[in-house]
Amino acid sequence: MTTTLITNIASLVTNDPAQGDGTPLGLLTDAAVVLDGEKIAWVGPADKAPAADETYDAEGRAAIPGFVDSHSHLVFAGDRTQEFNARMSGRPYSAGGIRTTVAATRAATDEELEANVTHYLAEALRQGTTTFETKSGYGLTTRDEARALRIAARHTDEVTFLGAHIVPPDHADDPAAYVELVTGEMLDACAPHARWIDVFCEKGAFDGDQARAILTAGKAKGLHPRIHANQLSYGPGVQLAVELDAASADHCTHLTDADVDALAQGDTVATLLPGAEFSTRAEWPDARRLLDAGATVALSTDCNPGSSFTSSMPFCIALAVRDMGMTPDEAIWSATAGGARALRRTDIGVIREGARADLALLDAPSHVHLAYRPGVPLVGEVWQRGSRRVTAER
Ligand SMILES: [Zn+2]
Repeated sequence: MTTTLITNIASLVTNDPAQGDGTPLGLLTDAAVVLDGEKIAWVGPADKAPAADETYDAEGRAAIPGFVDSHSHLVFAGDRTQEFNARMSGRPYSAGGIRTTVAATRAATDEELEANVTHYLAEALRQGTTTFETKSGYGLTTRDEARALRIAARHTDEVTFLGAHIVPPDHADDPAAYVELVTGEMLDACAPHARWIDVFCEKGAFDGDQARAILTAGKAKGLHPRIHANQLSYGPGVQLAVELDAASADHCTHLTDADVDALAQGDTVATLLPGAEFSTRAEWPDARRLLDAGATVALSTDCNPGSSFTSSMPFCIALAVRDMGMTPDEAIWSATAGGARALRRTDIGVIREGARADLALLDAPSHVHLAYRPGVPLVGEVWQRGSRRVTAER
């Protein structure tokens, strides 16, 4: 296998506290990394680096672990420009929201859905994302949910069954029958293609009892829970997430003190999705409150055509620092190591011997520039599983 030495890295975020400055970022200066096939073989000071088959000169730039985007909805068709434009223009708009995307997704061919996933993944990779989770949830029939998961599974191991996104219009009169479908026939068809099960636990979607029934049924089929919780209003989602040992409670905008305490004490990560608040002009989640209480926080895009149509982790970092009370160091950690925690992974989101060789080189001397220079395409080169996937023209 070919080894590659990446050297002359001015500033390297490892997320390994055993390295460097002793902070959670494990920041090394004048660093080097050796990649061996798909894995990282060595990390340390550039002047101590072992020889390798090939050498890449980082020319004094900063490097970070590839971003781990632990929450996206990429299997969809259609476009909701009009809805966004109306919302941002203060005009009423009565189209169907998620239902619009459900109709377009059901009508799309497999090839169209696959092309869409491929397109947004390439877009995310150019911005430094090397691992992503994605969900079903725009099919809402057994056939369409299983199809979405099959397509997603061709692109990532982190696939989530979200049959309980909303109650579809065809079941509007009988939500109980829909819960029965999601926990029965639909779950049977979907479980083989997914690792996770998710529920949108919210007024107008699924209540605490329904969410519990759905996640418990998923667990019995070997799927691990994660929950869309406490996004638009206070509710039982976060407590349920901790009780069921969900890997992540996502959104966490409306939290009681008891919710914050539960997250601080459990192993459930609080995943914050600032693209959603940005794109809907909603109240920001309070990352500072969660961090100060001791909760683990992840940052993710929530990339979807309705409420957060961004694939950019750097954009989410900038928002988290500007509007959610995170320091630049915390935001970088949450977008890399935090995302890995939210997926219960130890092989990604970290630059350490034995970890997956996923890293991004920034056209900047420090990772802080990701927040300091918002909107600027700073991601230069990206290695994913040890191969160089993105190369900037310099
Ligand atoms: Zn979501």
